[in-house]
Amino acid sequence: MIVTAQAMQDWSHAARGAGKRIGLVPTMGALHRGHLSLIERARAECGAVAMSIYVNPLQFGPGEDFRTYPRDPEKDAALADSAGCDLLFVPPDKEIHPPGHRTFVEVQGMQDVLCGRSRPGHFRGVATVVAKLFTIVRPDVAFFGEKDAQQVRIIRRMERDLHLGVEIVSCPTVREADGLALSSRNAYLTDAERRAAPVLHRALRAAADRARSGETDTARLLALLRDTIASEPLARLDYAEAVDGETLEPVTAAGPGTLLAVAAWFGRARLIDNITLIR
Ligand code: AMP
Repeated sequence: MIVTAQAMQDWSHAARGAGKRIGLVPTMGALHRGHLSLIERARAECGAVAMSIYVNPLQFGPGEDFRTYPRDPEKDAALADSAGCDLLFVPPDKEIHPPGHRTFVEVQGMQDVLCGRSRPGHFRGVATVVAKLFTIVRPDVAFFGEKDAQQVRIIRRMERDLHLGVEIVSCPTVREADGLALSSRNAYLTDAERRAAPVLHRALRAAADRARSGETDTARLLALLRDTIASEPLARLDYAEAVDGETLEPVTAAGPGTLLAVAAWFGRARLIDNITLIR
């Protein structure tokens, strides 16, 4: 395990010197099978695989769960190792955000829609920390989960805009048997909320099925999505939207590549999920 930016840079330098392709999996820890699937993908594509574990204060708003976010470094280290990770980078705050830091990365427009609307500043925090991780690690390729669809699209845009030279790979969402997307925040759910939460995936699937049978009007698809979620009394919808799968701009006519995205509260857990229409 490495904790300083300098030691991380040295490791990457040595790996590159040895001719290895460097893969980075950025996370906030509390690892589950979703995170491990990213390591496995990285392992398959790269000679050197690093995972960062950093609960980034910049991406949490006031009143959000920064302090209570689940942290379990020892279990994480064992899991990462078992999935084939070569190195954990677990920096303290000062290694990422030096005291007095005042530099931020914004991906304008894309950061203010969907989750950005209810979490102002969140994606500025995400883009900033990922830019810093890329600068420290200098990976050839970085792996992200499609579960956080807005995040990976914003990072892709940032990577292009800043010419960072990192290939961005988006990996499929890993789910429980009942369809619930794995998330560190699922730990907040009570038993009843846990039973209710798969409604998100069910609603997305219903809307995608409707689109597959020929419905292109996103207003109708979203009505079905919202109604399905509303049928679950423990769910409180934050948003349900249909957007372009690359730019995140709203679309009125659904087609291949349209992203249906939802966020809803179950008790104190705010969960997100999405589906991309294939036709
Ligand atoms: P987090 O630790 O929640 O910030 O997530 C770290 C990375 O794991 C992000 O790229 C997430 O999109 C990804 N991830 C989280 N949950 C899942 C999941 N259920 N399936 C696939 N990737 C995931």
